[in-house]
Formats: sequence, C-alpha cells, structure tokens
Amino acid sequence: MNAYAGPMGHSGHDVLAALAEGLPEPALVTDADRVESYRYDRAMFCPAGVPLAVVLARETAHVQHALRVASRFGVPVVPQGARSGLSGAANAIEGCIVVSTEKMDAVLELDVANRLVVTQPGIFNADLSAVVAAQGLFYPPDPSSWEFCSIGGNLSTNSGGLCCVKYGVTSDYVLGLEVVLASGEVLRTGRRTVKGVAGYDLTKLFVGSEGTLGVITEATLSLRPAAARPATAAALFATASAAGAAVAAVVTAGLVPSLLEIMDQTSIRAANAYLKSDLPDDCAALLVWQSDSGGAAAAAEVSAIAALALECGATDVIEAEDPAEGDLLLAARRSVLMALDALGTTLIDDVCVPRTRLGELIEGVEKIAALHGLVIGVVGHAGDGNMHPTVVFDASDDDQSAHAQAAFGEIMDLGLELGGTITGEHGVGVLKREWLAREVGAVSLDVHRAVKRALDPAGLLNPGKVFTL
Ligand SMILES: Cc1cc2nc3c(=O)[nH]c(=O)nc-3n(C[C@H](O)[C@H](O)[C@H](O)COP(=O)(O)OP(=O)(O)OC[C@H]3O[C@@H](n4cnc5c(N)ncnc54)[C@H](O)[C@@H]3O)c2cc1C
Repeated sequence: MNAYAGPMGHSGHDVLAALAEGLPEPALVTDADRVESYRYDRAMFCPAGVPLAVVLARETAHVQHALRVASRFGVPVVPQGARSGLSGAANAIEGCIVVSTEKMDAVLELDVANRLVVTQPGIFNADLSAVVAAQGLFYPPDPSSWEFCSIGGNLSTNSGGLCCVKYGVTSDYVLGLEVVLASGEVLRTGRRTVKGVAGYDLTKLFVGSEGTLGVITEATLSLRPAAARPATAAALFATASAAGAAVAAVVTAGLVPSLLEIMDQTSIRAANAYLKSDLPDDCAALLVWQSDSGGAAAAAEVSAIAALALECGATDVIEAEDPAEGDLLLAARRSVLMALDALGTTLIDDVCVPRTRLGELIEGVEKIAALHGLVIGVVGHAGDGNMHPTVVFDASDDDQSAHAQAAFGEIMDLGLELGGTITGEHGVGVLKREWLAREVGAVSLDVHRAVKRALDPAGLLNPGKVFTL
C-alpha cells in the first residue's frame, strides 16, 4: 500500500497519515481483508480497483476530513452506502478513498405534525420505514432491496420500488439535504416546508447523482399518513405480452393501484424454489396488484383491475382472502432477483418504457432470449413500465457470457426504440455509461460535465461513473 504514488506525487503513507490525524481509529480501515469487502457493489461485468483506505464515517466532520485530505493529495473518493447497487456505481477505484456512510444510521428527528423525518444516510430503507410506521406515518419509496439498501444510496440513485405506481420515487420525498462537497465544505439544500421555491433546486440536483457531486450526510424526507392495509389480487396469463396489455388497459382506464407488478414463469418458479412457496406456475406470467384505498373503495379498485385482466385474456384471477396471502405474493415478488441469482449468474437490466408499450417490450425481450438461446426472467414494476429483464447464464462459459452481454445491450436498444430510458431506477454507474450519450445526447452530456466541474473541479468524486470528463 505504501508503494502507491498519487497524482500529486505523494505516497499512500502520506495520505493515510493525514487521514488518521482527523479520524478516530475505528473510522479508518486499512486492513487488506476488510478493505477487500468494500470493493464491489452487486453489478456484473464492472471492474473495481483496490482502495487505499476505507473511511467508515460516524459523523459529518469525518466525511469533511476525508474529502479535504482527498483534495489536498488529489486522491479519488468513492462514496458508498450498503453496496447493493446494480450498476457498479459504488465500485472502488484503484488507490481511492472509499467514504462509507453505513455507520451514520441514526434517525435524528421525527416531526409527526409536519410529517417529516431527518435522518442520517446509512439507515436501511426498511428500518427507516419501520421507525416512521410506528408513529402512523409512511415513507413510500420501497425498493425490493429495502432490507439491505441505505437511504443515502436510495437518494444517490433516485430509487424506485413497488409503491411508485401510486406514490412516485425517492425524489418526490426529499425536502432537503446536507452534502459534503469535494472541497470539504458543508452545503445545506432545501427546506422543511411543504412548499418553497427560493433559488435553484439544488436538492434534486444531488438526487440521482450517483456520488459524483458530493457525499450526502443528512436528509430531510417528507412522509405521508399511513395507508390502509392493502387488498391484493393476482391474475394468471398464458402469454407475458397479454399481461403487458392488461397493464396498458389499467393505465388507460385511469385506475391507480398502489402496486402493479409482473413476474414471468421463470421468475415464479425461481421464487417458489427460493421461498419454498407454491404460487401457481403453470402460467406464462402473473400480474399482482394492490389497492390501499381502504374498505369498499379498495375492493372496487381490485375488482375493476381483475375485470380488465380477464378482458385482456387472463386465464384466472385470485383475490387474496386475507392480508397473509397478500404478503406471500409480495414476498415472492420481492425475492425474485435473489431467487434468479440462485439459478446462475444474473445480469439484471432496468429499462423503463411508456406503459402503453410494455407488451412490445416483453415480446421483444422474449425474441432476444430466443435469438441468444438464453433464459431471461421477466420481472418488474409493470405499473411504471419499469422492467428488470434478468439474464441467467453460466459465467464460466465464455460464449454464454458474450451472449448475455449482447442481450443486455439489445434490451436497452429496444427500450430506447420504444421511447423509453436505459435505466428507470438502478442508475448508470459504469455498466450503462456507454449508453448514456445515446439517450441524452451531446448537449445534455456537456451540461452534465459543466455541472460536475462547477462542484468538483478536480474531478475527484466517483470519477468515471455515469460519464467521463
Ligand atoms: C435484489 C436487489 C433488488 C433491487 N431492487 C431495487 C428496486 O426495486 N428499486 C431500486 O431502485 N433499486 C433496486 N436495487 C438496487 C439498489 O438496491 C439501489 O440502487 C439502492 O438505492 C442502492 O443503495 P445502497 O445503499 O446499497 O447504495 P450503494 O450501492 O452503496 O451506492 C449506490 C450509489 O450511491 C452512491 N452513494 C451511496 N451512499 C451515498 C452517500 N451517502 N452520498 C453520496 N453518494 C452515495 C454511491 O457512490 C453509488 O453511486 C436492487 C438491488 C438488488 C441487489
């Protein structure tokens, strides 16, 4: 490690000594085995370097110190949450300082009357949701990974989840942030009020910026009153594209379920094996939906969607008889990506298309799977048009790996052709960097670079992620 020579000609030893001056001993990790565990997020095919050190910040001042040292020595910094990301955005860069906010996991304030919570970024999404639920409040953004992803990571990727079809994504719930800039200065953005338009919306600038503009050390999030216990139903389809057509019909009819998700046969079977459950798996696809409108309104909404599903060719509709049955369906849906992971190596895509084009996306993915002789599980947030076609392959087989990567790219091409985006919620990271220019165009990319240079002139924060300078 001491052989490291940074861009300013300093040795790794100098950098480590400077870091140690402002950090308590447990906050600075240099042990090779422990450092190794902070190299990767969960993306496939994304390279990672070996960090010089990992800073496990306990407070904002630790992050400030790490960034000041990084600026002084010209060392890159990779911010990390819980490393559950799927785009390589949190992967370490050779010789970098990883600044992890995983230990900053305290809820600082819960203001029930104003329906907001002030939290540190390291808390897991499910833990924050449980804290606010105990006071009768609701933090809607709920990625499938909610039990093992952090609010800091959610903010930095603008995460979505299962409730987005009705309640929107992370950025819809962010009132303000505390961010440590590359210089080590602390920037406070936003407000605590319901409304507020003073100045540029710097808060939203940081949401989804994938650690390239600053390190988030505190967030003020808006909350909703707790929703009613949802009513749940599911429909079985003989083709996945018929399920896609049913989603388009729901949207066209102006119905707004609180959840509308799809699993194809591969996904259902994988979930059954993983959870030892017995969801019906003799269908090509299953749509599951919920209404949290409460009482008779929920029952009416669930039935209206069931009727549309049957009109679009559903072979059967199952209405959950009690909340436990609904929970089982939801647990199965949440488990799919991990369940597919148990079948082989997975390459998880994340394309989002206008909801009326979902059927075309699903049919296109089926053709791509057939063309490459691959298994591609189709699962996703159908109500948002946001699908996670997941290629399952044998990574020790070079030919299959090449086909998996080609299929992954073709799915994104298809998403763009259908008027969609290359990522609905997982972010660009390293995995999709080459596709960003194609989606946003040269002028937009130049504006991205100008913003980056304004906030991080030396380009030290998560360099090479999202786009290159
Ligand atoms: C099985 C599975 C299911 C998933 N389902 C979903 C889903 O339904 N919806 C969804 O949106 N995502 C999903 N994801 C992806 C992932 O969980 C999310 O992207 C999540 O928001 C990442 O959070 P994290 O704490 O793990 O962040 P990390 O992976 O550690 O980091 C993600 C990005 O955020 C940056 N970052 C992290 N913390 C900070 C901080 N404090 N300040 C500045 N930058 C920071 C990193 O630099 C990186 O760019 C899933 C992942 C898995 C493995």
